[in-house]
Amino acid sequence: MFENLSVTDSFKNSIMSAIKLSKLSHAVIFEGADEDTRLSAAKEVAAALVCKGESKPCKSCSACLKAMKDTHPDIHILYKEKDSTMIKVDSVRQIKAQALIFPNEGSKSVFIISEAQYMNPQAQNALLKIFEEPSPHVCFILTCTSKSSLLDTVISRATSYTLGEEAVKYDSERDGKANIIAAELLVCLAKENEFNFLKKTASFLKDKKLFRDIVEKMISFTRDALVFQSGGKDLVNGEREELILFKNRFTQKKTLEIINALNGFLTDIDSSANLNLTVTRFVSVLYGIKTN
Ligand SMILES: [Zn+2]
Repeated sequence: MFENLSVTDSFKNSIMSAIKLSKLSHAVIFEGADEDTRLSAAKEVAAALVCKGESKPCKSCSACLKAMKDTHPDIHILYKEKDSTMIKVDSVRQIKAQALIFPNEGSKSVFIISEAQYMNPQAQNALLKIFEEPSPHVCFILTCTSKSSLLDTVISRATSYTLGEEAVKYDSERDGKANIIAAELLVCLAKENEFNFLKKTASFLKDKKLFRDIVEKMISFTRDALVFQSGGKDLVNGEREELILFKNRFTQKKTLEIINALNGFLTDIDSSANLNLTVTRFVSVLYGIKTN
């Protein structure tokens, strides 16, 4: 997947594992990179969501072929009209109506809003209603230069991914740091008490971006743990020591609860006005799952 696109590995890995586990959020935001890359990535994800093959997108089943030719009836793409400076509320209302209808061919309808930064505030507010009451057969993919161009209420109800080149440069060092801390936190969660875990959060108490990166890594690791627990061998991060520890310490059900909680925190972090409070809740939620 994404073979011909210049996107970061962390983007590839998180999207591929979310698709594999059918855990892709009902609303995702793709930011960064250039317009063509964003749209192509969105189309590949849409193909994966409607694909009827084994490894999605298989690019050979009838659904994939239609998706690649832009003729799949369940994939809808909204562009800014040529002579307009924005995506208007009427266009969004139309998608809203379409989103209520069941998919024609598969189990998902996918709505791509290309260059969502052109949605005016009324259009974005019209989208919110669907985001708040997501129907299980619908997925929205918003592409944009930067998610900061969207309303906070939209961002907080979607999962955001950065595709871009700049993110590669910016992230390589931080990525390593996030990796190490995420692994340490999972080991700590498996072996040690809440107080020791809390001490380890000091390194990101003032760094929202790092906290978010760490939670994303923890999701990636715990998804691997889940694959591992169900006897799978196809691990995104390889067979790491932490995973073995995690696998032995938690049941599949608990691992899944932890993944869901971590996913919830991605949204919380984005909308958090007080990071200290979010971190404190983060610790108590994870330990609540562990001891429950
Ligand atoms: Zn396919």
